[in-house]
This record gives sequence, structure tokens and C-alpha cells, in this order.
Amino acid sequence: MNAPLPVKVTRETAAHAYETVAQISNEIAGRLAARLASETEGEVLFSTADRGRYATDASIYQVMPAGVFVPSGAPDVKTALDICRDMGVPIVPRGGGTSQCGQTVGAGLVIDHAKHMRNIIDVDAAHRTAEVEPGIVLDHLNAALRKHGLWYPVDVSTAAQATLGGMAGNNSCGSRSIAYGNMVHNVLGAQAWTSDGNLLQLGAFAGSSGKARELGNYVRTLAEELQPEIHRLWPTVMRRVGGYNLDIFDPRSERPYTADGSVNLAHLLIGSEGTLALTKSLTLQLAELPKAKVLGVVNFPTFYRAMDAAQHIVKIGDGTLTAVELVDRTMIELSLQNPAFATTIRSALIGQPAAILLVEFSGASKAELLPHLKRLGELMGDLLLPDSVVEMTDDAPQKNLWEVRKAGLNIMMSLKGDGKPVSFIEDCAVPLEHLAEYTDALTEVFKKYGSRGTWYAHASVGTLHVRPILDMRREGAPKMRAIAEEASELVRKFKGAYSGEHGDGLCRGEWIKWQFGPQINEAFAKIKQFMDPAGLLSPGRMINPPGMDDTRLMRFPPSYKVIPIKTALDWRAWDVQNDPATEQTSAPGSGGDPAQGFAKAVEMCNNNGHCRKFDAGTMCPSYRVTRDEKHLTRGRANTLRLALSGQLEGMNARDAFTSDAVHEAMDLCVGCKGCKRDCPTGVDMAKMKVEFLHHYKAKHGYTLKDKLVARLPDYARWASRFAPLLNLRDKIPGLAALSEKLLGLSAKRSLPQWTTKTFFNQPPVTATRDEVLAAARPVVLFVDTFNGTFESGNALAALKVLQAAGYTVHIATKTIADGKHLCCGRTYLASGMVDEARAKAKELVKALLPFAERGIAIVGLEPSCLLTMRDEMLVMGLGEAAQTISQHALLFEEFLAREAADGKLDQLKARLQPADQAILLHGHCHQKAFGAVSPIMDVLRLIPGAQPELIESSCCGMAGSFGYEASHYEVSMQMAELSLLPAVRRQPDAIVVADGTSCRHQIRDGAQREAVHVAVLMARQLQA
Ligand SMILES: Cc1cc2nc3c(=O)[nH]c(=O)nc-3n(C[C@H](O)[C@H](O)[C@H](O)COP(=O)(O)OP(=O)(O)OC[C@H]3O[C@@H](n4cnc5c(N)ncnc54)[C@H](O)[C@@H]3O)c2cc1C
Ligand code: SF4
Ligand code: SF4
Repeated sequence: MNAPLPVKVTRETAAHAYETVAQISNEIAGRLAARLASETEGEVLFSTADRGRYATDASIYQVMPAGVFVPSGAPDVKTALDICRDMGVPIVPRGGGTSQCGQTVGAGLVIDHAKHMRNIIDVDAAHRTAEVEPGIVLDHLNAALRKHGLWYPVDVSTAAQATLGGMAGNNSCGSRSIAYGNMVHNVLGAQAWTSDGNLLQLGAFAGSSGKARELGNYVRTLAEELQPEIHRLWPTVMRRVGGYNLDIFDPRSERPYTADGSVNLAHLLIGSEGTLALTKSLTLQLAELPKAKVLGVVNFPTFYRAMDAAQHIVKIGDGTLTAVELVDRTMIELSLQNPAFATTIRSALIGQPAAILLVEFSGASKAELLPHLKRLGELMGDLLLPDSVVEMTDDAPQKNLWEVRKAGLNIMMSLKGDGKPVSFIEDCAVPLEHLAEYTDALTEVFKKYGSRGTWYAHASVGTLHVRPILDMRREGAPKMRAIAEEASELVRKFKGAYSGEHGDGLCRGEWIKWQFGPQINEAFAKIKQFMDPAGLLSPGRMINPPGMDDTRLMRFPPSYKVIPIKTALDWRAWDVQNDPATEQTSAPGSGGDPAQGFAKAVEMCNNNGHCRKFDAGTMCPSYRVTRDEKHLTRGRANTLRLALSGQLEGMNARDAFTSDAVHEAMDLCVGCKGCKRDCPTGVDMAKMKVEFLHHYKAKHGYTLKDKLVARLPDYARWASRFAPLLNLRDKIPGLAALSEKLLGLSAKRSLPQWTTKTFFNQPPVTATRDEVLAAARPVVLFVDTFNGTFESGNALAALKVLQAAGYTVHIATKTIADGKHLCCGRTYLASGMVDEARAKAKELVKALLPFAERGIAIVGLEPSCLLTMRDEMLVMGLGEAAQTISQHALLFEEFLAREAADGKLDQLKARLQPADQAILLHGHCHQKAFGAVSPIMDVLRLIPGAQPELIESSCCGMAGSFGYEASHYEVSMQMAELSLLPAVRRQPDAIVVADGTSCRHQIRDGAQREAVHVAVLMARQLQA
């Protein structure tokens, strides 16, 4: 086997592309890569890691593509299509890759439309239409439409990731489809290339001509011939998305495809899953943004009663009812356990309901909608469930609850162990009058196979999502087939649709024939043949699909194996198995993971793509900047999974884990912990990066820069004596450039300034250990390396505020004085030096335990340092003592906010002078990850008249030493420019509060403004 080569073929390397790719894959892939690189402007990604990152979507399947192409625009797609036709290479079009059934996995060339093909071509507000490129994400389109008072109302749960091209491909359906319909009901036209290179203009059949007209005539003839068969077998529910839309001339959907009953040829592409043509653009029917919404959350004592009630609820509202969505008990429980969702879900509950239905009414004003909410309460009374409705009329709580509902599947997927909720019958649609009976019967089927399902989603249209828990590495595949067969019988009995939302893909392809019968299936094959005679577009999907249980196509086939690793951190919490019927997990460490739980933690990524987001939250700053799959939490998790399971071909598994391919994927991870909080399954890439670096550096060695950064806590006190000398780096021309050359620290960056007088070498006199242990209002202040060395003023300010508030403050010191300060080990962790970090943490634990045991708060200033005590220190083998400390470790603002809430800060409040400037707050990523931003707001509000404003920002981009490094400087600045720096510039007179040392540095470098720690601002406001 040849040595692995990182294959990123560029125009410059095009001449050698063939050799490079052919060496690691095959001859055709080599020629394909070479031609793409020389004939297009797009990105040509043919390395094993790149292909592996595009081998999966949110389904259980995995198929390695021959290569990946990221077109720079429409002309590139056309050229790629021509090249593939020439060479006979199949094409798999892709948007966000969030399909649940394997639609985007396949051999051939994957074309990723999401990175560049995302322009809005035109908006016609008067006629409420928009023309868009296929790669635009729904949320981004809707953000642009807001100013017109319009939106595109097919509001899929994946709105922040799903592209319009992908939504059209799958005939996607939103939570409000009862009011607006599916994609097919909301597309007016499409431009699309067929595999022969023709660009079809698809729109109203009446006005069509040329090839489009021919297509229409052909389909009409087929449909007319099969009319009796279509009338006999075609599901008449609105939520039928399986097969091609052969019924456009005689719609069988409950809801007509067009408002005026006309025929639209673009509808043939909707739900065709990339098998008929490549979409170049779509013309969309927009809707007016609802001016007001109210929500009634109905709490049910049994699941059956919730299901039975749906058919009655949909009848109320006089046309204002826009959604009836189910959340069942299991999902309620999982939401309660998730810190991001717990408070929200609690606000919707009355007691401990078995299920809740979210019933939404939309209209011109809240006043107009309130009677419908009242009517909902009355209806529930009639159904013998009085007082079961939680009314939500304000927008914010409604929005929060919808976020929980939208995250439903992801929340479910957070179950640890090899058994996972699997999607294959997750969206069968049945008429509402049979919903209760159907769900009851299917639950019995699950029981029969030793599993159970969690139910949620679209009760309004009879499409309930449910995924039985199956272990695909063991007996999952045969069980999946057995359950599918029984489920299909139920669907037939209740005259429903087997594929009601997510499409066919690999898991439902074989059921198309079952649903529509052999004759209609044959007609589908003829449509495919007519449009794609060469069989170039996603072959083996829709027509002649493989078996759903073909384990050769699965991500976790029975042959899946993980390499043994001795981990540096403790990952045993992930190394468990679960009971599919009870969802109970076994003891930590008992899951049988040869990588001691690390592989199972990595495998928690189910590829749903939630990390491809740009809205609120932190995840994932590197992707927000590059839009590369490689720099996405999902891409990283996939790369690690492929490496750990020996699937990075050309390398043995042990080398693969510490390979450059993995390093490349991890390189731009800033360790912001955004994913720890925002990823619904809790993929904690920051921690994984520490583990990875530990192994990578052990093999490849530490650079001088690594050592300088990591060991800063050890030499800081000594080095500060030479402050004037060290500061010359930023003063004498040429020295910064030299430091870039020697150390890799960007010459464009200033470095933190050393001072000879620091908090550490001239500490103020404070309470001793014994004094604080005996004090009535004790607190221990942990001063970290940064605030104790470079910004001593922050530590002094914190001390001043705490003392002004009446606390006896002790500065944490080592139990045995050795001239060094206490350190949490953060800088070592960031470099992968886990053993050194553990040694530091041990000292810290020893010093702080007596205080924690007495319940005394340990207060810190630097978020990344203090929060290490609540995070990494718990997985470094430090036992119960570390746990005890973590329970008492608080950020300065968390402590003050807690004390204020307990009414203990009156003395401090009385001394605070009013604010006379606006206050802007930027939260450090780790503060965000630990929900510690609102306490800063609470503390700032203690200042009379203060109205702090939170900057909606992701990571500042500095992230410890990341932004100082020459190789990361550009990306670092781009991260800051996403929202932080523009927000700071917009308010030139505001005080900017940022608790992170590196955040403040980034703000200084990028916006030339001095941000302050909250402690400093509080101290400034103190009256003498
Ligand atoms: C957690 C979760 C929740 C979901 N919730 C919903 C939901 O509420 N409603 C719903 O309907 N679906 C839902 N889905 C499924 C999925 O998100 C949607 O189908 C989504 O619209 C797919 O968009 P995408 O950009 O990821 O498309 P992809 O998955 O990338 O592609 C979808 C299909 O479109 C084809 N395609 C993509 N671009 C083109 C193009 N330019 N030309 C031709 N074909 C193309 C692909 O080949 C594929 O067959 C959910 C999935 C997950 C993981
Ligand atoms: S990392 Fe998390 S959010 Fe991203 S795809 Fe994986 S599971 Fe989803
Ligand atoms: S830690 Fe931050 S940068 Fe790294 S993968 Fe998670 S969200 Fe992205």
C-alpha cells in the first residue's frame, strides 16, 4: 500500500493531480481530480479524510465517494457535470448533508453546493417570490426576507443548516405544514441540468416548451396510462414524499400542489433526491411573516390521550392553527437533563405529563388569537382534561420552547452506548383518526423486538417521528428489517404513507415499490431513464435501490473495530452500553471500548449537522469562518472516528490517529467548548483536542512555542523581573518578525506586556488560611497566571470589590511555598501536556480542598482557568477531591450574582455609583459553555442605571495562544470580525466588558479599544 498523501488538488498542482490521487485511490479518481482542478475554479478534495467526511450524512449509512468537489459557482457545476459524463463517474449532489436516510451518501463525485452556491438571485416582494441558488440555508434566506415582511414557510427543524436545494431534493416539510404545506407546495420554478448537460427551465406546464414540454408530455402519458393504479395505491395524505411526483397532473395530496390547480413541472424535481437533475436555481413562493403567535402547551396524563386529542385540536382555530407538535415523556426527561434546555421545558410542564402537544395559532395580532387559546382550554375541558394548558403569549418563551422541540431528535441521540435511536420508519404518515391506534400498535412492535421508541413532532399531519433503539453493530440490521415490515403493515392498514417527511434514500428506497406497486415503480424508472439515461445522478437511489439492511453500506457495520488506546483523560463516562427498552446505561468503563471510552465519545456525533450554524451560540467558530466540512465539529468527529477505526486508508490505525490528516482537521479547533454546550449530543471537541494533542505531540514532539506557552505559569514570576527586556519584542523593529520566524508567533500581534511589579511578587495582605476558615463571610480568591502576572489590576480590583462587600478574602496559595503560584494547568492542557497539567491540578486540589470541604467559595477571574476546575480537572483521575472543589469553584461574577440573589450584597450595592456610559458585554466562550454569561449581566445590573448589552458573538478568535500564532492569525481575525469587533466599533463610547484575557487582547488589537474585566468596572464604580 502506498503512503497516504493529503490530497488537496489545486490549479497549481493540477499537473500532478493524477499521480497524487491515483496513488492512493484509483486511476479514474486520479484523472477526475486532475480535470476538475484544471478545468474549474472549485475545490477538489480527494484525500481519504476528505472523502470520509463526505461519506456520511445524518443516516446510519456510509459510502466512500470517489472524491468531493466544492464548486465556486454554477459554471463549475456544469463543467463538473460534463467531466463526469465524459468519464462515466456518477454524481451525488449535496447541500448541508442533513438527510436522515442516506440520500447524500454514494460512490462517485459528491458535489457540495453549500459553501459557495448560496446567493439570493432575486426577491420580488410584490409578488412574494424569490429566486435562489440551491446552497442557500433556509435561515439565511429568511433573515434576508425579514425586511420585506416575508418568509419561506417550509420551516424544517434543521432550518439553520438545511439548504433550499437539499430541501427541494427531499420534498422537506416543516412543523407548520398544516398551514403551508411541504416543499412541493411552495416551489414555483426551477432551473436544472439533466445529465446530458441540458439546462431545463421548469415551471408552469402551460407555458413550457422544448425539452421541458417533452418531459411534461411524457409524464402525463405515463400518469394517464396508470390512472387506475395511481387512484388505487397512491397515498392521499399530504405528507407523502416517497417516489417521484407522478401525480402532478392529477394530484393525490390532500393539499393541491398549486393554488390555482395548474400543473408545474418543477414539482417533478421536488423529492427526486438528486436522481433526476442538478438544481441550479429555485423560484420560491414566499409567505407573509405572521405578525403574532401564541402557543398553548397541552399536558397529557397518557400518551394515547395526546394522540387521540390531535384530531380534535386541528379543527379549532378558524384557520389560525399553524402547528400541533408532540414532545413525549422520554424527550421531556432528556431535555430536563440538558443544561441548554432544562429551564425552558420546565416552564411548559404541569406536573409530570406523559406527553405534551405544542399548539400554535398565528395571525394579525395577539388579541385576535387569544380567544383560540381559550377555546383550546375549553376543548381540553370537553376532553376531560381541564387545566392542562400552559399558555405562552410572549414571543421569547415560545421561541425557546420551539428550539427544544426542534432539537428533539438530537436530544434523543444523546443516549450513550452503542444502541442508538435509528431512523427508518421515523416518519410514516397516517390519517389523524388512526394516530392513537397506530402509535399504540407500533409501540407493541417495538416491545416485541426488545426496544422502545421515543415519539415526537408533527401530530397535526399524522407524521410522528419515532426511532426504536437498535445496536447496528450487533443485531440491529435484522431487527430493523423485521420492525420495518410490521410497521409497513400498519401503514397499509391505516392507508398512510410509508415515507412522510425525510425521503427515501437508502433506508426507504426499497419500499417505494412496496408502497406504489410494480407498475407505478416501473413508471418511476421510466422517468429516471428519460431524464438521466446515462444513470449518472445518484444511481441506485429511488430506482433499483439496495436493501435497507445491507450492512456493507453502514457506518457501524458488525465489522467496525476500534484501535486500543491508553487515554490521557478519563473517558469512561462514555464507555457504557444501554438497555434499549429502559435506556438505562451500564457502569462507566463497562462498554467494551478498546479506546477507553474516547472512541465512543467521538461516535456520539450522529452527523446531524447542527454545528453548521451561524446564529446564536458559539459552535463552531472555525466553520463559521471557513465553511469547510473539515473545520466543523462534525468533520472533526468524523475524521477522528475514521482514524480510530482504521478507515483512513493507507495508514495503520495507530498511525492514523496521530497523522497529519487528523492534525489538519483539529488545527483550527480553538477549544472554545461551544460544541460541549451547543451540540445536542454533547460532542466535546475541546476535550478531544486535548486528548488528540497529547498523543500527537508524544509522537511528533513539542515545538519551542508549545513549550513557551505551556510552561508560562512556571517561568512567569521569574520572567517578570526582566519585563523591560522582554517588552522590547514589541518596540524594536524587526524583533516581532524574528519571533515569528523562531517561534511562529505572528509579527502582526502585540504580546501581553510584562511588568516588574505583579500581584504575585508583591501580593497584598489578606486573610490567612486559618482566618478565612474561621470567618463569618469567607471567600478564597484564586488568582491565575494571567491576572497575577500581566493584569494584576484585575486581581486587585476583585479583591477590593469582595472586601467592600464585606467578605474575608484569602488568596489561594500553595500549601508549601516554593516561590510559585497555584495553577489550574490550562496552558499545559491546551498544548496536550496532560501529565504536567495533572501535576498542577493535584497541587491545586490539595491547596483548595480544605476550603471546598467547608463550603467556602473558590472564586476565580479568568474563565478558562477557573472553569478548568469544573471541567477537565474532573477527568484527570483526581478523584472525589476534584469533584468537591468543582462544586465550589465559581467565577467572580457567579459568586456575586449568587450572593446578590441571597440578599447578601446590600453593603456593596450601597457603595456603587451610577453608570454614565453604555456597557457592552462580550462573554468568553467558556463562560458561554457553562451558562456563566447571565451572572455577568446580573452583576453589571447592580450598578445603578446600568443597562448592559450582550454582544451576540461566537469565539473572539484569540482562544489562548491560538490567535497569536502566525499560522492562525488570519482565521483568528476573521473570527473576531464575524460579530465581536463590528459590535464594539458600532458603540465607540461604550465601556466594553470582557472577562477573558485573550478576548481583551483581541479587542485591543482588532478595535483599538481597552476592554475591562467586570471586577475592574465594579471596583471603579465603588465610592470611596
Ligand atoms: C435533526 C434533524 C431534524 C430534521 N428535521 C426535518 C424536518 O423538520 N423536516 C424535514 O423535512 N426534514 C428534516 N430533516 C431532514 C433534513 O434536514 C432535510 O431533508 C433537509 O431539507 C435536507 O437539507 P440539506 O441541505 O441537508 O440536504 P442534503 O441532505 O444535503 O440533500 C438532500 C437531498 O437533496 C439532494 N440535493 C442537494 N442539493 C441538490 C442540488 N443542487 N441538485 C439536486 N439535488 C440536490 C441530495 O442529493 C439529497 O438527495 C431533519 C434532519 C435532522 C438530522
Ligand atoms: S458534532 Fe454534534 S452538532 Fe455536529 S453533527 Fe455531530 S452531533 Fe451534530
Ligand atoms: S471546541 Fe469550538 S472550535 Fe472546536 S469544534 Fe467545538 S465549537 Fe468548534
